[in-house]
Amino acid sequence: MSSNQTSAHPKGLYVLFTTEMWERFNYYGMRAILVLFMTKALMFDKTIASGLYGSYTSLVFLTPLIGGFIADRYWGNKRSIIVGGLTMALGEFILFFCATIYQSNPELSTFLFFSGLGFMIAGNGFFKPNISSMVGQLYTPGDRKIDPAYTIFYMGINVGGALGPFLCGAFGDTGNPADFKWAFLIAGIGMLLSVVVQLLFQEKYLVNAEGESIGNVPRGVNAKLLNPLFGAIGIGVFASVMIALLYIDAKMFSYIFYLLIASLLLILAVIFGDKSLSPLDKKKVGVIFILSFFVIFFWSAFEQAGASLTFFADEQTQRNLGFYTVPASFFQSLNSIFVIAFAPVFAWIWVKLGKHDLSSPTKMALGLFLLSIGYLWIAIGVKDVQPGIKVSMMWLIGMYALHTWGELCLSPIGLSLVNKLAPIKIASLLMAVWFLANAFANKLAGQLSALYPEKGTTSFLGYEMNNMYDFFIFFVVLSGLASLILFLLTRWLQKMMNTPVQQ
Ligand code: GLN
Repeated sequence: MSSNQTSAHPKGLYVLFTTEMWERFNYYGMRAILVLFMTKALMFDKTIASGLYGSYTSLVFLTPLIGGFIADRYWGNKRSIIVGGLTMALGEFILFFCATIYQSNPELSTFLFFSGLGFMIAGNGFFKPNISSMVGQLYTPGDRKIDPAYTIFYMGINVGGALGPFLCGAFGDTGNPADFKWAFLIAGIGMLLSVVVQLLFQEKYLVNAEGESIGNVPRGVNAKLLNPLFGAIGIGVFASVMIALLYIDAKMFSYIFYLLIASLLLILAVIFGDKSLSPLDKKKVGVIFILSFFVIFFWSAFEQAGASLTFFADEQTQRNLGFYTVPASFFQSLNSIFVIAFAPVFAWIWVKLGKHDLSSPTKMALGLFLLSIGYLWIAIGVKDVQPGIKVSMMWLIGMYALHTWGELCLSPIGLSLVNKLAPIKIASLLMAVWFLANAFANKLAGQLSALYPEKGTTSFLGYEMNNMYDFFIFFVVLSGLASLILFLLTRWLQKMMNTPVQQ
């Protein structure tokens, strides 16, 4: 049945929902224990672990540019999703092996650790952009159900994001470092389930409104490029490059920022070198760049979740309930749980505001403000607390609620604004800009997490941090200032977009 004839969503949406849910289960389940595994099993210090977390999550956002490109030209979405999914599962199983032998063979274990992360990065590059773009393809362009479809899909992301840290944490983050391996194994099984769901249902249900199959190999592609052996070798080489990139950045020379800047310059040159773009188009593109810049401040503070905030949960939060000690990794479920709980509330608020709805840049500034307040909340919680004393869980829980409200103001709004403003023929390139902003943000997140004041004073641009209060206040100021500047720029940005206030 076509999506036009019925008000219900096509079944394909629920296939993509489930596939993405298990993939995010795998990604966030593994991320929940990642820095704990690095510091407690591999015995990396927090600075190294934070840096590696930043480089890993940064590359995770960079490879979709390549995976999206290859899918559009050669492989199609469906094949790319399967290849990406299997590659990530392999990455998890390599990490499982790494976590099994870390005591008996530390050298091999370190090698396997970088390898597992490299496979995860490579696989994600093929999986993530392609599954997201298939959601829209289920509908006729302009169908009003597309936005709600992405909202439902976002729920799938967060069901996975809530269950992953929970299950992987329950079995892997037990207080005994030898158990971390179970988290990687469970995450890998989740990833395989994702692939199985996709394989079972894609042919039947992934069809457009006319009932035609979508996400196939583009016409006229050389059959050699579709040979599975060729594909396996290709992805193996790609993963090896990722392993090398990660290793060189961690052990020899930290260059990922330069790589990101080079990618940015390349995209800028392509966009602004395009003679066919009108001056208005260029202005709109300019707005996307400016907003992407502000988004960096948001995610770099927000993504402390997987690093410094997990150290904080582990070491400085009272998690003992008497009958059960809550694993530190569980706190990484909170963001997703709050998204599921509050996304409908926010959707309702935006509808209720009706004509008085806030402009997109204003909502994004509000998102940054809420993030800042979240850090202020936890800063209050740790103020004047003596070293060695643990604080109540409510500080982290409240902070994650505020951060999630911030996310709900900034993330879906920003994304849909990019879609609306982008001139059609460079739409994918501007999506790439958005991904690139996330890549910058995650690299910065790792760098900032390394300022965690554990053994003494750390400092950033002359600001000294002696304790957790100073550390959290840094993020209050960072996101607060970004919020203030964006608020001040709102009117000007609206003029640049040359669109009504409710854009
Ligand atoms: N949590 C969402 C996801 O994993 C969004 C993350 C982001 O955009 N940085 O897809």
